Parts: sequence; C-alpha cells; structure tokens
Amino acid sequence: MSGSATVVYDEALRAYDFGPAHPLTPVRVELTFALADELGVLAADGVAITGTGPATDHQLERVHTPDYLAAVRRAGADPRRAELAHGIGTPDVPAFPDMHEASALVAGASLAAAEAVWSGRAVHAVNIAGGLHHAMPAAASGFCVYNDPAVAIAELLARGAQRVAYVDVDVHHGDGVQAAFYNDPRVLTISLHESGRTLFPGTGFPAEIGAPGAEGRSVNVALPAGTGDTGWLRAFAAVVPPLLRAFRPDVLVSQSGCDSHALDPLANLMLSVDGQQMAYAALHELAHETCAGRWVALGGGGYERVQVVPRAWTHLLAIAAGVSLDPATSTPPEWRRLCRDRAGESAPTTMTDGREPAWVPWREGGADPADRVDAAIAATRRAVFRWHDLDPAAAG
Ligand SMILES: [Zn+2]
Ligand SMILES: [Zn+2]
Repeated sequence: MSGSATVVYDEALRAYDFGPAHPLTPVRVELTFALADELGVLAADGVAITGTGPATDHQLERVHTPDYLAAVRRAGADPRRAELAHGIGTPDVPAFPDMHEASALVAGASLAAAEAVWSGRAVHAVNIAGGLHHAMPAAASGFCVYNDPAVAIAELLARGAQRVAYVDVDVHHGDGVQAAFYNDPRVLTISLHESGRTLFPGTGFPAEIGAPGAEGRSVNVALPAGTGDTGWLRAFAAVVPPLLRAFRPDVLVSQSGCDSHALDPLANLMLSVDGQQMAYAALHELAHETCAGRWVALGGGGYERVQVVPRAWTHLLAIAAGVSLDPATSTPPEWRRLCRDRAGESAPTTMTDGREPAWVPWREGGADPADRVDAAIAATRRAVFRWHDLDPAAAG
C-alpha cells in the first residue's frame, strides 16, 4: 500500500539554527537522517531524495505580510537588532545571521514536498525539517519564522487543489496554520494537542471551529496533560477518520511533531514511540483511503533529540517509503556512536519503547463522562461534527 516517495533533504537546511542552547537544534534532523539511512529506509525502491531551493517572496506572501518579510531580513542582516513587534529577538525566536534565507529554505523544502505530490511525481513526500506551525502572518512565534505548512497549503490551493486537509499531531496547538485558513472553507485543519490550559500557545479549544462561512473547518482536540498512547489514539480515531472521510480532501498535509512523547522536555503528554508510529501509520492509511495516497508529511516539534526524535521520524520515513520496519529492530552501532559524538548521550538500543498500545474505539454510550480524555473527545465532536453532517453520538 504505497508507491513512490520523495524525501526532501538538503544540508543547507541546517542553517535554520537559533544557536546551541536552543531546543530546536538541527542535530535532531541530522540524527534522524543518519538513523533512517543506516536502517536502509532511504535506499528503498521508489524513494527519491531531493534538495530544495528557497520559497519566493510571492509564495511566502500568500501567508505572511511584506512588512514581516522585511523585518526578518533586517534581523538577519543585523542579529543584534530585535524586531519585537514581529516576535523576533525573544528567547523563543532569537535573531540569527541570514535568518530570512534559512527560513525561506525551510518553506521551500515543504513547497518541494507539496509539488512532488501534487505533480504526481511521488505519492508521498516528507520534509522532516518543516512543520513550523506557530508562525503568524506578521510575527514569529514558538521557534517558527515562516509557516511552511501554511505556505505549502496555499501553494496547493494556487495549483488547483479544491480541498486540503491538514492534520497536526504535534503536542502544541497548530495555531498559525489554523489562523492562516480560519476563513477558508477549502482547508480543514485538525489539531490534537495538550490543552492550552497547561501548554503554549494557550489556544486550540473545541469552540474554535472556523469563521462564518468556514464553520467546522477548524477542529481542535484539547487533551489533558498526562494523556498517553491509549487515550491519544482513541481521540485520534474518534475525530480524524470520520472528518477526513466526510471532507474528501484532494491531498493530506500532516504536521508530524513528536513532542507528545513522555520524555519530551517541553510538554506533558505521555506517548511512546510505538504510539507515535501508530499515529503516522494511521495518517498514511487515511491518505490512501481518502485522497489516493496524496500525503505531504512535515516534521514539527520534538525536543528529545536522541531518545525520541530520530526513532519517531525514522518510523515516519519508513511508513512513507513503504518499508516495513520491525519495532524490535536494533539501532545500528554506527548511529549510536554518532549520537555520542554529536550529542554526548547514550542512544536507545532498539526502535521500540516496548509498548503495544491497545486502545478502545470511542462510542457515546461507552464514553466515561468522568474521564477527561472522553470529555475532550465529546466536546470536539459536539462542536464540529454537525457542520460535516456527522452525528456526534455515532460510533467513532
Ligand atoms: Zn503509501
Ligand atoms: Zn510542538
């Protein structure tokens, strides 16, 4: 159940770097590609590795304001200069040299992935370095300068896509992508995340359903801190498949952040790599079921750069590449050495966390009103299902 896959990778993407003390270090992408490469994922039949060029101003300005691009260029020319009105020069988004060029390249990589899928050159395409979902039209936010998922979706629309589905499994609310298309009924954004009550950016509640004319096109599942594999997968299955089947997208774009893991230092969900692998596999299956396989998979958050990110996203790459990767597979000794050299840490020895998440499908009668995950699921279904002619009480 796969086909050809394009993987966008370019050494130059490492230039998107806020410095050694910042959580979004390019080392996590380097360690991911090294692991996927040594496990043979990137050499699989039908996988093409491609480089990228920068997004043009015209492409960026489908989402961002010209003033903001000018501010990013000024900050990149003189990184001592803060552009606080545009969110630059903060601890989350410090200025760095050539900030515009590095950020435009990340967006260009997501555009390359979108173009590979939309042209039919590949069924699936992956840009691990992308997924910068917090950037707003005129401001950087949450480590994100240009919103590459939104820029890629805008490009797909410009090339003729009628309906684009965006599913964001990062632990943080995909607020920037939601904001970019809040008025646009052609784009369905679904974000599953730790509730904004306990986590940045503090938004993403079920009542955020889209502006008049686009009601039901913005979907938020706000999960309680502490939610693990079984609750998360139950929520995903209760919300995402019925909405994608009803919406019938032309193409699926996912933000595949892996900061939902129990070890992630910045958030409080409790997923395992095994649960994350199941989530990516579910997205892949839904792409085949609802849009002829057209799937643009972007990276996103994930700050446990040795223990989690490389394994989670190697599973993502394997799924897109059509490679069956047994979770019991050992990690290659070469890769473990690289982890020690590049990050000074002992690497995990296998591709699994030893979990086999077994979740119970959601149904109204079987929902536990006292259970906070079930309450979150029910709130989301009540808020948006009727806009898709779906019954919030139906089995999910
Ligand atoms: Zn496939
Ligand atoms: Zn995140």
